[in-house]
Amino acid sequence: MRGIVRGASVYLVPRQSGELVIGATQEELGADTTVTAGGLWQLLRDARALVPGVTELALGDFVAGLRPGTPDNAPVIGPARLPGLVLATGHFRSGVLLAPVTADTVADFLATGTPDPLWKAFAPDRFPVRAEEA
Ligand SMILES: Cc1cc2nc3c(=O)[nH]c(=O)nc-3n(C[C@H](O)[C@H](O)[C@H](O)COP(=O)(O)OP(=O)(O)OC[C@H]3O[C@@H](n4cnc5c(N)ncnc54)[C@H](O)[C@@H]3O)c2cc1C
Repeated sequence: MRGIVRGASVYLVPRQSGELVIGATQEELGADTTVTAGGLWQLLRDARALVPGVTELALGDFVAGLRPGTPDNAPVIGPARLPGLVLATGHFRSGVLLAPVTADTVADFLATGTPDPLWKAFAPDRFPVRAEEA
């Protein structure tokens, strides 16, 4: 079940084990995966607006994951400046969905040495080099 509560999207996914997954918050916090009380409260509050009974469930696990993104919101795919290193990241909220097509083009590149023409928009060198990387 999906819904919008107070402008924020919330989803509830029943698992075969009987568990219910509730997600997900979104914050720009770098690589910090600390689960905050506020994030948990917001999710439970919004999930309860859709399904009032959720607050009677036992609390299981809670996790925070990363959605690597880029300044222009497009992925980074292609050879890095370090010879032999190929980047395929920055898919933000769609990394699972885009994994097969990304993997196919990376595998083709590794086998043939020819970059996919679609990679042009995703070139790693489209961003200025930061001082600490120079
Ligand atoms: C709650 C949540 C729900 C999501 N739902 C969806 C969805 O429904 N559909 C969808 O398409 N996408 C979804 N995503 C987004 C998707 O998970 C990401 O886009 C995808 O995981 C990004 O893949 P990545 O390989 O770029 O980075 P990551 O998956 O973050 O992988 C990076 C890896 O590098 C490792 N690493 C980091 N630093 C180092 C280091 N120094 N040395 C060695 N290893 C290191 C990490 O441990 C990690 O395994 C969701 C994300 C979250 C958090």
